[in-house]
Formats: sequence, structure tokens, C-alpha cells
Amino acid sequence: MGTGGESVEIRSASKSYGAVRALDNVTLNVAPREFVSLLGPSGSGKTTLLGLLGGFIQPSSGSIHFGDRDVTLEPPHKRDIGIVFQNYALFPHMNVSENVAFPLRARRLPKASWSEKVRTALAMVGLAGYEERGVAQLSGGQRQRVALARAIIFEPRLILMDEPLSALDKQLRESMQIELRELHKRIGATIIYVTHDQREALTMSDRVAVLKGGRIVQIDRPERLHDHPADSFVASFIGEASLLPVRRIDYRQRGAGTRHPAQRPDRPERRRADPGGT
Ligand code: ADP
Ligand code: MG
Repeated sequence: MGTGGESVEIRSASKSYGAVRALDNVTLNVAPREFVSLLGPSGSGKTTLLGLLGGFIQPSSGSIHFGDRDVTLEPPHKRDIGIVFQNYALFPHMNVSENVAFPLRARRLPKASWSEKVRTALAMVGLAGYEERGVAQLSGGQRQRVALARAIIFEPRLILMDEPLSALDKQLRESMQIELRELHKRIGATIIYVTHDQREALTMSDRVAVLKGGRIVQIDRPERLHDHPADSFVASFIGEASLLPVRRIDYRQRGAGTRHPAQRPDRPERRRADPGGT
């Protein structure tokens, strides 16, 4: 399975909604088979950027290229992208097999090839044998896997994901992160992955693009972001995921130096800072 990854280039793209500049002169290059996360707080432009790649949103200026194809004016269905959203929108009246085969139907691929492709895609996401199951009889995690199978069944060279795991509980989310990472290696597609969860971005990605106010403030490998943040925003945003305990101790030593440790309130900020804890 897999026909290799697409290379993706965004050239100086901007997008405004009236007075709101959702994206401000964004340039991004993603290599074939790379896993790149778009990380940033709410409202920083992540979904808008993904929408430009999917073709759901037109840039106000700039262009988008897949390989040497300029796709800026191409509608979504011509771009051949696998897409997984947070609300994975399965068709409730169809069983698992029909849901997963939907992109094949939409592409008018010969029906004789469907069942083999469905079987392969379901095996890829750990749902072998679930073909006849009704969607209502699946857990949240299983539904998300069906959505994944549906996104990979036509062997797209590019897959876009917008917070695909955020509806799952912490334990399931962490195991799905590992599975997604392994799935990525097996299918060899390029993946662009939106998340506001620092730890998720750092553990899953080849590179992470940190967004703020519609701009990419830094794009780098996880360890590089961690060790060489471009500015204090990146440092604090990334730092929340991994550096925080050390910093908090320094802060408390300065801020509450006269207090005995036993008298301190019980670390509420550490719980708040755990991005996977809610
Ligand atoms: P994120 O996904 O990072 O939370 P978005 O890309 O959804 O951010 O939004 C970026 C900015 O653009 C925000 O200020 C948001 O309010 C604004 N925005 C997004 N979509 C629209 C829209 N359809 N109309 C008006 N403003 C929008
Ligand atoms: Mg969003």
C-alpha cells in the first residue's frame, strides 16, 4: 500500500476574513513522506492553513503547490487528499465496510476491487474483521480508526488531519498517537497534522511549525524547537510540554522563598500545565 508522499509547498499565502488576518504571509515546504505538525493556540490559523491545503479555503494571496503542480485553484475533490477531522463524520446508516469504501465509490473505482481494499485498510488500522459492523456499535476509538481507514483507502500521497484525536480520552489518545506514527511509516504518505497539544506535536512529528497570530514563528525538528526556540513565545509554548517542572521550581524558589515547602499549595499549576491531563 502507498504510492509515496507528495511534496507540498505554500508560497507567501495570506487569508483575511474582513478585518481579521487569519494567515499572514505564510511560506511552508514539506518534503515527501514527512510528518509535519501545525501547532499553535486557538485562533492562530491552523485550521485555515489546513483548509488552504485541502482546497476548502481560497487564499487571499499566494499559491499552493503539490510536487510541480500549482493546485491553488483546484477544488478539493481534484486534489486527491486523505482527510481526517476531529468530528470524523461517519455515515451512520452505512456499516464499516460501506463507510471505508466511500472514497472508492466517489472515485468510481471498479466495484470488484473494493472488498480487497477495504480489508487491507481495516487491517492497517487494527480493525480486521469489522466490515459488517454498524457504526453505532463502535467505540469512539474504533470510529476514529474507521475514519482513518476511509482516509487511506485510496492511497493518497497527502493526508491532512485536524485534531483527529482530541475527542478521545487521554489513554486512548496516547496509544493512537503511537499507532498513527507507525501507520505513517507503513503507508509512506506525507502527513500534515494540526494540534494544539505540544506534547502530541513533539512526539509524533518530523518537524513542527509553531503558529501565532496567523504566522509561522518557527518550523523545526522537535529537539531543535526545544533546545533553540526562536523567541519567548515558542519557548513558553513548547516549554509547557517538557521544561515546565524545572522552571516552576525556580519560580517558586524566587517567589515563595520564605515559605516552608510543606506550606505551599499543592501544585495546581503543574496539573494545569499537563496538556494531556484534561
Ligand atoms: P485555529 O485553527 O488555529 O484555532 P483558525 O484557522 O480557525 O485558527 O482561525 C484563525 C483566525 O481566523 C481566528 O481569528 C478566527 O476567528 C478567524 N476565522 C476563521 N474562520 C473564519 C471565518 N469563516 N470567518 C471569520 N473569521 C474566521
Ligand atoms: Mg482549528
